[in-house]
Amino acid sequence: ARLANQIAAGEVVERPASVVKELIENSLDAGATRIDVDIEKGGAKLIRIRDNGSGIGKDELALALSRHATSKVSTLEDLERIMSLGFRGEALASISSVARLTLTAKTAEQSEAWQAMAQGRDMEVKLMPASHPQGTTLEVSDLFFNTPARRKFMRTEKTEFGHIDEVVRRIALSRFDVDLTLRHNGKQIRQYRAARLPSQQDKRVAAVSGPAFINTALKLDCEHHGFRLWGWLAPPSAARTQADIQYTYVNGRMMRDKLLNHAVRQAYGARLPTDSHGAFVLYLELDATEVDVNVHPAKHEVRFHQSRLVHDFIYQVLVQALEQAPLVLS
Ligand code: ADP
Ligand code: MG
Repeated sequence: ARLANQIAAGEVVERPASVVKELIENSLDAGATRIDVDIEKGGAKLIRIRDNGSGIGKDELALALSRHATSKVSTLEDLERIMSLGFRGEALASISSVARLTLTAKTAEQSEAWQAMAQGRDMEVKLMPASHPQGTTLEVSDLFFNTPARRKFMRTEKTEFGHIDEVVRRIALSRFDVDLTLRHNGKQIRQYRAARLPSQQDKRVAAVSGPAFINTALKLDCEHHGFRLWGWLAPPSAARTQADIQYTYVNGRMMRDKLLNHAVRQAYGARLPTDSHGAFVLYLELDATEVDVNVHPAKHEVRFHQSRLVHDFIYQVLVQALEQAPLVLS
């Protein structure tokens, strides 16, 4: 079982940041409103994610660690209208095959918390009583301890932490309603407070992107034929200096989608100098049946059923927004 999981881990667990992404997504799927991320040594030594979500019942703990065990999809129709972030039931099994994983959880119904650990060749799961408020803590230590080739690919502590920081930023912008903190080697690095009002949202975007972006960005929100696009877009005059701010979301999932990026680039068009790609934080929302998210294990890509329509919609909304911005010729 361990080997099969290690092979799958190659797809899901590229580096510490990918573990962080999977675990935070699980917390979000569990309805958490507060997530604390604790990292040691760039994630190579420890990744600890604590949430106040639904928790995991004692009887489900062992199951959560096994491959293709997911509590989120039970029918084919489910798979067609996936709203949860995870659905393959691969992440925990994969992670536990390449690291030491400890799960501690308590549900609302249980009076006590339980801790589970998978050990040995057969990944036998050991259960122990523990102390924990409602929610789940996942601890991943010694990542890639048993896969030297992967361990060798890990970069410096600073680089790996940079990737983790980036994942946390992306997620912070995907869920304004969730409190998120990030610590590294015992020091608090980020604190994103839940933001419900538009002014608080601006503040949160500023915390992620820096005040320069939000101060000059064009704000947009447009709905048409069941598609909605909202967010912030840097005017061409400011876009060059903010080239690292390119956040796109489809139905709340962070994406680096080709079609979306293409539409954005086309909308900016000649307004941008050739060496710039623009700066934006954009949210595309459409009916879940309009998108196929089951394309890539790391889930960065989607497939739109009406890709032409989606592309043109994004293009038109952005062009409209940009036309109100001064033109920059270079
Ligand atoms: P998936 O997210 O694709 O279902 P995972 O391997 O990521 O698969 O997780 C396996 C299962 O463990 C989930 O379906 C869920 O039931 C449970 N689980 C994992 N993390 C959490 C969490 N933070 N809170 C509650 N349940 C969790
Ligand atoms: Mg998951």
